[in-house]
Amino acid sequence: ARHQLDRIGQHKELGAFVAIDEDLTVAQARAADDKLAAGNAAALTGVPIAHKDIFVTTGLPTSAGSQILAGYRSPFDATVVRRLAEAGAVTLGKLSCDEFAMGSSNENVAVPAVGFDEAVPVRNPWDRERIPGGSSGGSAAAVAARLAPAATGTDTGGSIRQPASFCGVTGIKPTYGRASRYGMVAFASSLDQAGPMARSAEDCALLLSAMCGPDPDRDSTSLDRPAEDFTRRLGDSLEGLRIGVPKEFLGDGVAPGVRAVVEAALAEYEKLGARRVEITLPRTELSIPVYYIIAAAEASSNLSRFDGVKFGHRAKDYRDLADMYAKTREEGFGDEVKRRIMIGTYVLSHGYYDAYYLQAQKVRRMIADDFQQAFRQCDLIAGPAAPTVAWKIGEHGGDPVADYLADIFTLPGSLAGLPGMSIPAGFDGGMPVGLQLLGNYCEESRLLNAAHRFQ
Ligand code: GLN
Repeated sequence: ARHQLDRIGQHKELGAFVAIDEDLTVAQARAADDKLAAGNAAALTGVPIAHKDIFVTTGLPTSAGSQILAGYRSPFDATVVRRLAEAGAVTLGKLSCDEFAMGSSNENVAVPAVGFDEAVPVRNPWDRERIPGGSSGGSAAAVAARLAPAATGTDTGGSIRQPASFCGVTGIKPTYGRASRYGMVAFASSLDQAGPMARSAEDCALLLSAMCGPDPDRDSTSLDRPAEDFTRRLGDSLEGLRIGVPKEFLGDGVAPGVRAVVEAALAEYEKLGARRVEITLPRTELSIPVYYIIAAAEASSNLSRFDGVKFGHRAKDYRDLADMYAKTREEGFGDEVKRRIMIGTYVLSHGYYDAYYLQAQKVRRMIADDFQQAFRQCDLIAGPAAPTVAWKIGEHGGDPVADYLADIFTLPGSLAGLPGMSIPAGFDGGMPVGLQLLGNYCEESRLLNAAHRFQ
């Protein structure tokens, strides 16, 4: 923990952390030492871990990257945070993310990073002029720069897999419902999932085993399946494993250097005994409009709780209650968040609901069915996590659609609720390229083993 705190202090320029409390970390580490000395260790005793600032924590403030929650302290810990603490992990601090996890670049952050007076985009440790990906950009950058051996992230439409890919780390989003959403500041509740980001599939398996498990009293969508030891299949042979490669994932929009890395990874899998199967996910392109309708709709509803009454920021000068709501939200939310609330409110409104929201729900079901069709022919699906490597900070020039389009390969799996990972597979022009692996429901062990064998 001491070593990690020192490194965090030495690399503030990355903007990865938004909150640290050295005394808290050291106290937890001392307690872990005592447990080890007493022969009373749990699976992760003493392992330092940092949390995406979307998980509420009692020991440190939680902002979700937003001014509306600046300085907020939760009276309880998120289930994922609590479970990791019970497994012995030591908290290193809170990590920067896009505001309410809305973003693909960690440029939509509205709270200052540690060592700064103002909000700054997180920098990619491989090239500080580039984004780390998002929305779990702080998590990916911290692990890549060795500021933390592991971090938590959340993935609604790719926010674990895409930053893992851009920063050359391993990340897994489990099946929807595996990890409790209790205490994760809600973005799009039918999509949000927590998962670990670390240096290897093996580390991710250990962390995920601690993070998952039913939480029926607190998250009604948590799966009624006992906690699992996700390390149990690590080392299994890949002989005969059928890896499906969707033709839509290697089309024209993919950078040649990214395609080359993915092709080389697939060849490596064939050497390990796997068989490549050509498949199709015909509605891949539709996942972009479908996701950005459904996620915005759910966000507009979830974010209605930030009204200046119960918690967080409240505007100073207002005439009446309605004016207080309006000014609080005007001041507290950033541009991207407002854009999503407006789109979401629009697609849910009378007269547009059927045309947009309902239609999107129907196509979402078809996308999920396409995967089930594909899994008749293969055991896992592989492709790029993103069409390119990390782009330059400011390169998309504030054009949100450019960011949305770059999510094309992570959104289908999210809409279907499937488990997915990104593992470091090579480089394009000096920047890391991740291989995305998708599995069928609750096949995390198979995914993690395939990643482990590759590494
Ligand atoms: N980039 C996507 C979005 O902005 C995904 C974000 C996420 O997974 N949290 O909504």
